[in-house]
Amino acid sequence: MLHTRTQSDITFLAAPVLEAVPRVVHAFSTRRPSPDDGFAAVAGMEGWPTFPLRQIHSDRVHWVAGERLPDTAPDGDAAATALPGVALSVRTADCAPVLIADRRGRVVAAAHAGWRGAAAGVVRRTVEQVVSEGGVEARDLAAAIGPHIGVCCMEVGDDVADRFAQPGIVLRRPDWPKPHLDLGAANRAQLADAGVPPERVEVSTLCTRCRPDLFHSYRRDGEKAGRMLSLIGLAP
Ligand SMILES: [Zn+2]
Repeated sequence: MLHTRTQSDITFLAAPVLEAVPRVVHAFSTRRPSPDDGFAAVAGMEGWPTFPLRQIHSDRVHWVAGERLPDTAPDGDAAATALPGVALSVRTADCAPVLIADRRGRVVAAAHAGWRGAAAGVVRRTVEQVVSEGGVEARDLAAAIGPHIGVCCMEVGDDVADRFAQPGIVLRRPDWPKPHLDLGAANRAQLADAGVPPERVEVSTLCTRCRPDLFHSYRRDGEKAGRMLSLIGLAP
């Protein structure tokens, strides 16, 4: 379970499983007029350069190794690094933000995983990249799946449902005309498949569409929906 905290009038969510990791700082924003305004400071990353991502609902992961970050955002939906003082960030409205760290605080990663990203396996690919480039083992990772559209509101067509074969990810109920996708379960399954211990994975149970008081939602607000910001980094 993630918990909600308020600091300097800014409400955000944090995961105890990541707060327990030395050097790792992270936060999931709630809805705010300007997600960048003061949020990096409460997240503990004020003034840090942020690795830019042009999110495209893919499985593309960037390993951030150079001190000089790109001026233009590369296409991709996840980033990972062992560099201290660099903020990794993803923006979401209903998609799931997934933040990952190894439990000794040597490597961090952030991924953007809606249904397209989940179908493409972006979280599994992110763990693979963290393991291969970061020199850590999957069994030493901890992860938090931030606020996303709940299974209550994530109605999908059969074409989408058919892309998730594992049990417990697509749910059907007599009172639902169409199947519903559990995005949290889909991403949690990928973490488990990649070797992350289930006891070190925390999942937000808040639905972005059901909670206009806290979150933006693309399904609820359409094109005018804002975005929440999720940040993770390693303190220098
Ligand atoms: Zn809902």
